[in-house]
Amino acid sequence: MSFALHGLAVSSGIAIGRAHLISHALLEVSHYEIPDSRVEDECARLRTAAAAIKAELAALKGTTAASQASAELNAFLDLQAMMLDDPLLVEAACERVRQQHINAEWALTQQLDTLLEQFDAIEDPYLRERRADVIQLVERLLKELLGLARPPKPRRDDLPTVVVAHDLSPADTIGFRGQHIAGFLTDVGGPTSHTAIVARSLQLPAVVGVRLARSLLEEDDLVIIDGARGVAIVNPHPSIVEEYRLRKAELEISRTRLARLKDAPTVTLDGTPIELLCNIETPRDLDLVHRVNADGIGLYRTEFLFLDRLDRPSEDEQYEAYRDVLKSMKGKPVTIRTFDLGGDKDFAPNTTRVQPNPALGLRAIRYCLAEPTFFLTQLRALLRASVHGTLKILLPMVAHAHEIDQTLQLIARAKEQLQREGKKFAEDVALGAMVEIPAAALTPGIFLKRAQFLSIGTNDLIQYTLAIDRQDDAVADLYDPLHPAVLRLIAGTIQFGVKNGLPVSLCGELAGHPEYTWLFLGMGLRQFSMHPERVLSVKQRLLRADLADLAPKVQRLLKLDEPARLREAFEKLNAAATSA
Ligand code: PEP
Ligand code: MG
Repeated sequence: MSFALHGLAVSSGIAIGRAHLISHALLEVSHYEIPDSRVEDECARLRTAAAAIKAELAALKGTTAASQASAELNAFLDLQAMMLDDPLLVEAACERVRQQHINAEWALTQQLDTLLEQFDAIEDPYLRERRADVIQLVERLLKELLGLARPPKPRRDDLPTVVVAHDLSPADTIGFRGQHIAGFLTDVGGPTSHTAIVARSLQLPAVVGVRLARSLLEEDDLVIIDGARGVAIVNPHPSIVEEYRLRKAELEISRTRLARLKDAPTVTLDGTPIELLCNIETPRDLDLVHRVNADGIGLYRTEFLFLDRLDRPSEDEQYEAYRDVLKSMKGKPVTIRTFDLGGDKDFAPNTTRVQPNPALGLRAIRYCLAEPTFFLTQLRALLRASVHGTLKILLPMVAHAHEIDQTLQLIARAKEQLQREGKKFAEDVALGAMVEIPAAALTPGIFLKRAQFLSIGTNDLIQYTLAIDRQDDAVADLYDPLHPAVLRLIAGTIQFGVKNGLPVSLCGELAGHPEYTWLFLGMGLRQFSMHPERVLSVKQRLLRADLADLAPKVQRLLKLDEPARLREAFEKLNAAATSA
């Protein structure tokens, strides 16, 4: 029977292969008592299993796969090796075998329960997160004990393997070494789950959070994973398989072609230099940024420091995150946006009052200025980090001049404090404002004496210009980037920057859509900031652009009011961009 499953798209690409189900060992453990004479044998089984996994972890670090893998993956492998050595795991399980005369698997699951109770009582969110690591490691030990860690059987055809599991740990990947793995499908997990990280570092497509994948699929089922869309198609019709084979081949050709562009100078056909920057949400995204050799970070969304927690990140914790990004970028510009909390990014909903209309309420810069002590902590952390590279501070959702004035006062106060405390900071950190409210786009003059750069946030600018809630599916079809009002606000802001020598970048999602690259270049945009995965596709477009030819075409397009004619002009521009 053919069916499709939907989950989270965490690693793009297409995989066509046969399902290999990874058993959920914790569910398959048998419980029995053992005689005194078997006690030491059971302990020896536990230690042998631990040693086998440790050897494999070490081997994984040394394989070709691991050398391509990220530093992040290596850190996971080290952490798992460390946990294996912890007396609270294997040795504590042995102690249970000795005292209760039970089999090794049972002792291990009992010890896991005890450890998990301790984890649940921990306040620290980082340590609490390690709970999942312990579960995965115990899973892996159990599979080793039960002999379930065997690689998949040879297939009846030469299709590669799609690994289907409840969840995967980096150690799980060891069992697949030397196997032909095409992709991953898991029941649980989010964008930063281990499966997602492993998949991205190995550049394999993955869909996570599919809920029932493990129970709905059968061993050897034919599966297509469409990583970009977060869809898995099980036992598809041959015509669908053929369609995906073609798409996969096209994708591979364009990936190889794109990868070659990484080190090419980022200039248009007529020699105008363009900056391609990246949007990141955590320092963990840096791996991807380096992979495409981006010119810097155009938007670091710091509010993601609040993800999965109810308390506020301390000054030191913030400082470390900002410092890591600056250091890693080695002097390339790093634009860090101050907390854009509230609205759709209410990460700790229980701690704030109910707002009648969050998108128009106390969010972003408004929220920070209403809580000056909280804001000051972030500004202090930013300034302290500024000595590690080229920092630029970006303020979200600015509509009023006094919002920048108040921030400048707080920055001055933070500097005074740091000076008094003998802490170093860079004097010349540039301050910029996001243009994402129509009021800001219509009166850019308010920024001239106050800010050193602007960044257009099209995601919100479209929302506020068209009065379309970007979260509401019911009006999603009206969220139209090509509405003449939206285009004129963007073009007006860019032109203002050009005339007044105020650098303007664009960091909304549209910056990463290659079909808009020529349009924005024609408006005069010279800095684009986007998800790292989009950089090379946008680069490909701009390398073919002749600005002298483009500019007048875009100026004509901007004068059009009739939606159909505007779209036609846009498509013509695009067709020229793809065939150039
Ligand atoms: C934007 O609004 O375009 C933007 C980049 O900010 P965010 O998506 O984080 O609101
Ligand atoms: Mg925004």
